[in-house]
Amino acid sequence: MRLLLVSPLSGPPEERRRGKGLLPPLSLLTVAGLTPPEVEIKLVDEAVEELEISAEWDLVGITATTAQAPRAYEIAQAFRALGVPVVLGGIHPTALPEEAAQYADAVVIGEAEGLWPQVIADAKAGRLKRFYRHPEGKFPELKDVRPRRDLLKKDAYVLTSTVQVTRGCPYGCAFCSVTRFFGRTYRTRPIQEVLEEVASLKEKVIIFVDDNIMGLPSYARRLFEALKGLGKHWLSQASLPQLQDETLIKLAAESGCKGLFVGFESLSPEELKRVRKFHNDTRRYVETIKRLHKYGIGVIGSFIVGLDSDDKSVFERIKEFAFRAKLDLLQASILTPLPGTLLYEEMEREGRIVDRDWSKYNGNHVVFRPRLLTVEELQRGFRQLLKETYSWGGILRRLLGIHWRWPIFGTLNLIFRQGVKSYLRRVSQLAAG
Ligand code: SF4
Repeated sequence: MRLLLVSPLSGPPEERRRGKGLLPPLSLLTVAGLTPPEVEIKLVDEAVEELEISAEWDLVGITATTAQAPRAYEIAQAFRALGVPVVLGGIHPTALPEEAAQYADAVVIGEAEGLWPQVIADAKAGRLKRFYRHPEGKFPELKDVRPRRDLLKKDAYVLTSTVQVTRGCPYGCAFCSVTRFFGRTYRTRPIQEVLEEVASLKEKVIIFVDDNIMGLPSYARRLFEALKGLGKHWLSQASLPQLQDETLIKLAAESGCKGLFVGFESLSPEELKRVRKFHNDTRRYVETIKRLHKYGIGVIGSFIVGLDSDDKSVFERIKEFAFRAKLDLLQASILTPLPGTLLYEEMEREGRIVDRDWSKYNGNHVVFRPRLLTVEELQRGFRQLLKETYSWGGILRRLLGIHWRWPIFGTLNLIFRQGVKSYLRRVSQLAAG
């Protein structure tokens, strides 16, 4: 049997670009690892290489986030027109399985573990079912995870060593699909298995793609203790409450932590409550960043614009915060009601969703009616915020005076600056017609 696994290009057609990728699609590598060894597999990540549509495959598996969904459906239709069966999976098909089923022979709902071997067996027998799902409330155990990194295109990515240690998050923010996708569970891998995987990677820098690596502090402590001896550097994501524990931060730093993605999202306590991010205390933002810097850990701070109480001043306030708090990187996005989230349900009820072109659901476009801003004001303010925080002056104002002990944040700022510049260039080309 010959299996093709595809990660489609993301975003609207005019924004899709192929080039050097930042991170490889770990979910597909993991699915490949669940496939019986006799199956021949090819993996194509459209972000870094061209996809050829041909009838040489017995099965095509496509993963899709919401912004990838239109391209995933296009690819699925092209293969099916040649008589090749297609399976869709990932966050978007899980949120809207009936929609995905219109474009595929089968849809995998939820995580692939425990379902994928059956999909392969059914495909071989020519009797794919329409949907594959876990029994209600059941989530797979996280062990024997063996991503097939041998399928990766060499040198196609800036950082290649992605590892997943946990799944899920203890919180339930209204705009986020993590808790809906992984359930209200927080599952961890056996530490020994993680150590073996990390030790087997040649690269010095590891990206733990977890949504909340410190979600269970007792596990995080054991993990960090165990990582200490490996001499690796690592980056991941964490939440504000766990970052108040200085002993945990110190241990993370000793184990090689060099950067954490932190979801600050808003400077307004009321707005944080409204989006159910109850665990963020705005009074602790600056001191948390200082604490992380003290231990040589850079901060990638995420902020959302377009929240209900955001007016024209929000862009300036976030920019000033990024400069004052010395954010190593600012990850700004426009509020997006992703299908499958509470925010989507709320906005749907209120009739505020104005654009259902899923390719625009990537945090760069306004797809809903904001409360205190017009669509144009939000779009323009977002672009200005990116432009000013990633200008040379903006980068210097954020980075000057803080640790320069680890050069990756210099490199990441250059990559983000490049991304922002080409995004703004495309926007102005489109506006010019
Ligand atoms: S803390 Fe982060 S990962 Fe967890 S639900 Fe909120 S946004 Fe999602």
